[in-house]
Amino acid sequence: MAQIGQIIVDVPTMQTNEPYSYAIPAELENQVQVGMRVTVPFGRGHRVVSGVVVGLSDVTTYDGKLKPIQSVLDLAPVLNDELQQLAAWLADTTYAFRITCIQTMLPNLLKAQTERQIQPTEALTDQEMAIYFPEGAPRAFDASKLDDTTLAGLLRLQRAGKVEVTYQVTSKAAAKTTTGIKPALPVAKLQEIQAEVAQRAPKQADLLAYLQTMTPDKLVAQSQVSHAADVSTAVIATAAEKGWLTKQPLEVYRDPFHQPVKPTQPLQLNPEQQTAVTAITQAVDAQKTENFLVEGVTGSGKTEVYLQSIAIALQQGRTALMLVPEIALTPQMVNRVKGRFGQRVAVLHSGLSKGEQYDEWRRIDRGEATVVVGARSAVFAPVKNLGIIIMDEEHESSYKQDENPRYHARDVAIWRGKYNQCPVVLGSATPSLETRARAAKGVYTRLVLAKRVNDHPLPTVHIVDMREEVKQRADGDFSEPLLTAIQARLDRQEQMVLMLNRRGYSSFVMCRDCGFVLKCPNCDISLTLHMDTHTMKCHYCGHEEAIPHVCPNCHSRKIRYYGTGTQKVETALQKEFPTARILRMDVDSTRRKGAHEKILRQFGQHQADILLGTQMIAKGLDFPNVTLVGVLNADTALGLPDFRASERTFQLLTQVSGRAGRAEKPGEVFIQTFNPDHYAIELAQQQDYERFFVTEMHMRHQGNYPPYYFAVQLTASHEDEATAAKAMYQIVGALKKGLSPDAIILGPTPKAIARVKRKYYYQVVIKYKREPQLKPVLEQIRQAAQIPARHGLAVTIDSEPMNFM
Ligand code: ADP
Ligand code: ZN
Ligand code: ZN
Repeated sequence: MAQIGQIIVDVPTMQTNEPYSYAIPAELENQVQVGMRVTVPFGRGHRVVSGVVVGLSDVTTYDGKLKPIQSVLDLAPVLNDELQQLAAWLADTTYAFRITCIQTMLPNLLKAQTERQIQPTEALTDQEMAIYFPEGAPRAFDASKLDDTTLAGLLRLQRAGKVEVTYQVTSKAAAKTTTGIKPALPVAKLQEIQAEVAQRAPKQADLLAYLQTMTPDKLVAQSQVSHAADVSTAVIATAAEKGWLTKQPLEVYRDPFHQPVKPTQPLQLNPEQQTAVTAITQAVDAQKTENFLVEGVTGSGKTEVYLQSIAIALQQGRTALMLVPEIALTPQMVNRVKGRFGQRVAVLHSGLSKGEQYDEWRRIDRGEATVVVGARSAVFAPVKNLGIIIMDEEHESSYKQDENPRYHARDVAIWRGKYNQCPVVLGSATPSLETRARAAKGVYTRLVLAKRVNDHPLPTVHIVDMREEVKQRADGDFSEPLLTAIQARLDRQEQMVLMLNRRGYSSFVMCRDCGFVLKCPNCDISLTLHMDTHTMKCHYCGHEEAIPHVCPNCHSRKIRYYGTGTQKVETALQKEFPTARILRMDVDSTRRKGAHEKILRQFGQHQADILLGTQMIAKGLDFPNVTLVGVLNADTALGLPDFRASERTFQLLTQVSGRAGRAEKPGEVFIQTFNPDHYAIELAQQQDYERFFVTEMHMRHQGNYPPYYFAVQLTASHEDEATAAKAMYQIVGALKKGLSPDAIILGPTPKAIARVKRKYYYQVVIKYKREPQLKPVLEQIRQAAQIPARHGLAVTIDSEPMNFM
């Protein structure tokens, strides 16, 4: 009986979610399993592409016309049943291709890479060979890495049939190995030899004695044997030559953890925490799909609720998945989980090397790690038998991926909760409007932690009207009240956190005579001044150029920088307080691996008085000695053309305020703003999430925005502006024809930043309540977009976009 495999193939610009049938050749008969990656010939050119087996069927009559599977890339399936179903669902709801979804779900090392290569044919002359294949054939073919002349030449040769493009599929998955050792002789024999050599070679005798204590057939790392038997590797080498022991490769895990973590014990819960844990663990016990919103003010002890709920799931022999916004920014959270669950914890995040990532992934896959902590993509961890899923800071926008598949980790978590019949816990001090609205409707169970632990009060928040301050002090980023408050903390040896909204947000160069602003030649935004490199940089494409001394427009010499960056603030701060010890945390100071942890550790050990940083210091920090938080510019995000601008501002201010006064000493917050009357700022001052929710819901209702409406954003981009615009107009035409008159279609418009990396962007936003035809219409648009994609036109579909910009 022959077998047929259903394969989802990876053919760029010819994607489809329909599997293709391939014959399984006799020699692969018992190897191919559902969930494995394979390579198959595809299309008329029989180029080799990678694919994933999504089904197997037995057939009695073998249809000779089917092409056979070429090779198998895995020894065991890399996608279990749950993840396969998840991939199909993800493709359906995010308008991405199934193969893209599968690739997103796998660790980097398991992404099969197709390399295009160029091969000479018989027709190529020696001369052409010398020009186009100076380093021999074949050569890698990556259009983006070739200069224009070479590319044009190669394409001409291809048309002339003198070269052809071939595909090479590579998979780089590799386990790390070290030298392993096991005894090669029975104990009695080893004993005998030991007696013989005891006199003349005492070190060899030591090793022989140790070999007798080893479990037969179990490999032990050579380094460990050498250490335990106290013999050199030379002695081990001699023993191997004499046939006393066998050396074999031993698979080891790359250990990404360098800092040992102190074990912790569960804390005595307060009544609010207890109520929350009871409700959650009832759902765990009942193996019930139930989604919870834990709405707890900053410092209310949400983490302890998570940890104790996880402990219950583990006690029942189930596993746990905990998502955090960005691991690098929350080392404290990771340490708390590891302190409680030790070796059972696996951590997944982008800061790991590919090898480390792969090892953690395998520890999870094999069931050796039962608690998984990670950022967005960890939601695809191959944990089986989930008993609880937790999403901390569920409002964070980093949970949404901004490339295909454009998924939100919250939706994936809820899908997995259903599949595994377990609760999903969404936690935040400032829940997203969507989540809070669902809790209001009873879709989620709302659990409230209204007070800080041990009845510590929330900090007192002062608003500083910068319009008045600017009148009194000509320049400066610090208001008088904030300066006084900083001095008081320095005198009392307390610590403080100062936040500057956005890295170098407004430090652009402007001519004071003609208003000229230096912009990026590739993108439509102003360049940012960087004092460390003494250059102007584009934050979108990385373009870098010298700081101008003369205005390119009017030749005035009064061109200078305007606004504020973290480095400039640090200098000013140091001038005001010469003895203060300042740590700066922003994208520039944290580029190196482990830099975040180091800065936070130093701050935690009170090696500095002031932690100055961008938004990245707003989240999750729990330092008992911090009694002052200062926000230097609260408004930078308020002016953005984004329906979530108020929500983001409120969340950020509330979160950062929450860093103050978390222990015995009371906290104080100063928010400097040019918009003191804006409701997002006023309500952040009162730290009144519930009133903000009601106010903002009203605004959303008036503007027909989410969560009252669903939204989809489509973008078209191309190097030629007219091509991008035309594509968008065609798409809008298709939408108007396919959708009901109730759908609100905004656009087409150029995006707020219309040009990025030499491409023009046009967009349209659809707002709707019920549109049964939306899916098929978008599906058509997606399929149709594949052909022009070969000519550089990119169309993206983003369901529930984070903003409309
Ligand atoms: P949140 O995440 O809600 O801002 P955390 O979980 O960081 O709050 O808790 C704030 C602080 O309170 C932490 O230092 C934590 O160890 C402590 N804490 C939490 N629960 C308790 C408890 N039941 N008893 C004593 N201290 C607690
Ligand atoms: Zn740029
Ligand atoms: Zn000028």
